[in-house]
Amino acid sequence: MSKVVALVGRPNVGKSTLFNRLTKTRDALVADFPGLTRDRKYGRAMYNDSEYILIDTGGIDGSEEGIETHMAEQSLLAIDEADLVFFLVDARSGLTSGDYMIADYVRRHQKKTVLVANKIDGLDSDVATAELYALGISAVYPISASHGRGLSSLLDEVLAPV
Ligand code: GDP
Ligand code: MG
Repeated sequence: MSKVVALVGRPNVGKSTLFNRLTKTRDALVADFPGLTRDRKYGRAMYNDSEYILIDTGGIDGSEEGIETHMAEQSLLAIDEADLVFFLVDARSGLTSGDYMIADYVRRHQKKTVLVANKIDGLDSDVATAELYALGISAVYPISASHGRGLSSLLDEVLAPV
């Protein structure tokens, strides 16, 4: 069975950009404004001859009433379905309550999760990732989804046993 990888994180962190790059499609709508992908979207991707399934989600921004909005619910369903979670944050902005909420959810559900610090293009990755360890996730991968930087180290996680 193909491994299932969920892309979760706040709106606008670059989930759909990463989904499109990894699935080599333009299926996931990429937008300059948050909240466009309202449902879960599935795509097939290959890495080193292994096929895996990616799930793109709309995102959780922490402003929800509880976590009951449709978008947040879709993100949590995607986490539940996944073998591995790529938890994306924006390396250019600070952590928000939404980020802590996601970290807490994956921890409580004991879901294997790696932190993906996106938009690292033009930044010093050590400086940009330093504060992210506050989320309590030890595997941190600096990437640029739009420039394609850092992807092979991240994707090695897909091949690793869960
Ligand atoms: P989503 O809401 O998490 O799916 O985010 P999108 O993929 O729609 O991207 C939101 C915005 O961030 C778009 O304007 C993207 O072009 C931009 N973006 C995505 N990845 C990167 C990146 O690696 N570097 C930079 N500088 N911008 C990015
Ligand atoms: Mg999106």
